Amino acid sequence: MPHSHLIKPLIGEQYPTIDYGKGVFLYDTDGHEYVDACSGAVTANLGHGMEEILQSIVNQGNKVAFVYRSQFSNQPAEELASFLNDKTGYPWTFFVNSGSEAVETAIKIAIQHWQEKGKPLKRKILSRWLSYHGITFGALSASGHPSRRERFDSFLGDWPTIEPPYCAHCPFGKTYPSCGLACASQLDTMITRIGAENIAAFMAEPIIGAAGGAITPPKGYYERIKEICEAHDILFISDEVMTGCGRTGTFLALEQWGVKADIVAVGKGLSAGYAPIAATLISEKVMEPIVQGSKVIMSGHTFSGNPMSATAALAVLKLIESEKIIEGVDQKGTYLKNLLEKCRTEFPFIQDIRGRGLMWGIEFDERGAGFTSFIVQNGVDNGILLYPASAGIDGRKGSAIMVAPPLNSTKRELEEMVKRLRRTF
Ligand code: PMP
Repeated sequence: MPHSHLIKPLIGEQYPTIDYGKGVFLYDTDGHEYVDACSGAVTANLGHGMEEILQSIVNQGNKVAFVYRSQFSNQPAEELASFLNDKTGYPWTFFVNSGSEAVETAIKIAIQHWQEKGKPLKRKILSRWLSYHGITFGALSASGHPSRRERFDSFLGDWPTIEPPYCAHCPFGKTYPSCGLACASQLDTMITRIGAENIAAFMAEPIIGAAGGAITPPKGYYERIKEICEAHDILFISDEVMTGCGRTGTFLALEQWGVKADIVAVGKGLSAGYAPIAATLISEKVMEPIVQGSKVIMSGHTFSGNPMSATAALAVLKLIESEKIIEGVDQKGTYLKNLLEKCRTEFPFIQDIRGRGLMWGIEFDERGAGFTSFIVQNGVDNGILLYPASAGIDGRKGSAIMVAPPLNSTKRELEEMVKRLRRTF
């Protein structure tokens, strides 16, 4: 009888098997406890085992679990779209099942937008080096993430990238604010060189997550980016798959720069891990020529906006609203940051601490990505889950982890996380 193999990220590696979770804690089948200091993959924004969310899913399942989007709409999906519209001001919502698909859809809609306007085909999406937008071919083409691209580089779109707004190691060797935001101005130069007629959109994560460890651009950066996009008449896509739904202290992170993108991708925190769902939010300006034209978005998946996932997301967002969870993120984030800063004085290999809300990156010295894996594994052994985010991967300095706990973590739980983090260090 052949053995069955569940393919894991690293084949042959042993992973603990999780049994159950409660709040910020997870327990494996051997009885080990882990404090979830990174919400899994910056996803479980409300922690684990939230009864009211689970009950909503069961209730919906008892009514109907699946309808096909080409045949029916469904109430939870309609209500979720309306909730997202109220929260963000984007009138159009397209549901998908993962962050990668939300980004993929954003790219396709940007391309379609220009086609419907009768422009010659705009083939390029610009993005930044040090970025992660997803694993599907379109999203990966726009990702400045060397290790994820490695095997597929020659299949990917020939899409240029600009330097990241990485103040800790400024790619231009400058210092903010005397730098004059050279990293943002580079977009202007790049568009001029390639020709705006060839570019459908510029895409960026408001705060660089998986590829950099919460690299946070300074004030003025997105204001300038938006200005440049508008001046050249190209669309601005904000990938808020990680930063969205309250993670950084506002529903969308870009609100903190006072900027609105043309298209936004959200995922992860949308259902906080209670069901797979993500969404592409689209402005009226982008949709208008599509509504006037073909009326069809050539994207979509069997499970898009299925009632179970939409119900999970609705229950999550309603809870976040009724418990005023986003309102508490800044204060908790500052508390966590202060605890992390104390670690910095204790452990000289910590080089930089940056982030917003409850999304913090800790960058290490020149030891490289191997050191990140070592710390993350040591974390597991010390009962704390950390998110690896290696900025050092392409030869730049540093490698990083992220601490991004559930948004409803208590101060005592944050203290417990930092206690285990210090033990790990
Ligand atoms: N965009 C960003 C900013 C992400 O952080 C991720 C996931 N780490 C994705 C897209 C892809 O999302 P998913 O893994 O759900 O496909």
